Amino acid sequence: MEQHSRTDAYTDRYAARAAGMVPSEIRALFAMVARPEVVSLAGGAPYVSALPLDAVGSMVGDLVAGKGAEVLQYGSAQGDETLRELICEVMALEGVQGSADDVVVTVGAQQALDLITKIFIDPGDVVLAEAPSYVGALGTFASYQADVVHVPLDDAGLIPSALRDTLDRLRREGRRVKFLYTVPTFQNPAGVTLTAARRAQVLEICAEYDVLVIEDNPYGLLGYEGEPMRALRADDPDRVIYLGSFSKTIASGLRVGWVLAPHAVRAKLVLAAESAILCPSNFSQLAVREYLLTQPWREQIKAFREMYRERRDAMLDALDQLMPDGCTWTRPGGGFFVWVTLPEGLDAKAMAPRAIADRVAYVPGTGFYADGGGRRNMRLSFCFPEPHRIREGVRRLAAVVEKEIRL
Ligand code: PMP
Repeated sequence: MEQHSRTDAYTDRYAARAAGMVPSEIRALFAMVARPEVVSLAGGAPYVSALPLDAVGSMVGDLVAGKGAEVLQYGSAQGDETLRELICEVMALEGVQGSADDVVVTVGAQQALDLITKIFIDPGDVVLAEAPSYVGALGTFASYQADVVHVPLDDAGLIPSALRDTLDRLRREGRRVKFLYTVPTFQNPAGVTLTAARRAQVLEICAEYDVLVIEDNPYGLLGYEGEPMRALRADDPDRVIYLGSFSKTIASGLRVGWVLAPHAVRAKLVLAAESAILCPSNFSQLAVREYLLTQPWREQIKAFREMYRERRDAMLDALDQLMPDGCTWTRPGGGFFVWVTLPEGLDAKAMAPRAIADRVAYVPGTGFYADGGGRRNMRLSFCFPEPHRIREGVRRLAAVVEKEIRL
């Protein structure tokens, strides 16, 4: 019986693209790490309990009572116009001058990734992505049968010379590169940020090789020091398609994200969205609109930043004090993630079940590569556990790594 339920009797019937749809390592881990005794440094869920829940609750209640006929109705495929105007104000914090008419509201940035891949990618087309790259984007690219070619990054983000070498090689091979997918700011999973100097170089190279850039920027406003980085989109509006999200700055459960695209691309995206979902949820959109209009959202983002900074510090301090020699890790200036590299010979994927047995979870690096890389890496997230749990998690993890080194 058990065996029967594990084999898929429908295999012969699926479209070829369904073969690329396999569970991510993160999803597979979630079931195991839900036990309360496990400190999970695995999931990337924002700490939404830090929102003023009572105020948000009464705001939503008032919204339905006062504007129910609109809130509970279908809306336009492109998204609510006032919300799109407010989104332009949010992006202006990163130097982006966009028109509300070029914004499409999506069901999280994840749907934006899906729509973009759907309109640009034929099976076998090349997508460039950082090594490592956001697991959810890799899943989307796989589901449209893209061929992901990785470009390495370091502590200063994507490496421009490696980008140029890769584009040269692909050009020699006669392969068409549809776009570069990048998370330039507080990258998921590496936690690194593309420096201003490299931003200019990356844009220059993409212009030279005529490659579009998909800038995925859900963490841009969650920097712990100074002003927000200037978005790539701010400096090349015709080449860069910008993806944003309220998942980390308001609430992930509302599922409101967006795309800012050149006008013609925007029109295609709206058609693609229409056939996918008719329209994004009016309920969620108007909740976000009302939140932006009536709540102190800038102060709330500041409070999120301070909370996450404290958690980042707890994680980095614990790693500095406890991790065995030979391990290295990134030092994120914002966002949710630290990327750890284990000493030569260790295997983070093989170690994961042993870590869970010792009551700590992380995501093995291999999930963030389309080509089997990342064996010696782990993604640690500090967004959800409170600082004392982070310290305890790192203490357990350091002990697991220590044992592994001695194996
Ligand atoms: N892009 C990146 C880089 C992310 O980290 C995430 C969320 N983990 C997303 C996109 C998707 O975010 P959402 O759909 O919640 O907006």
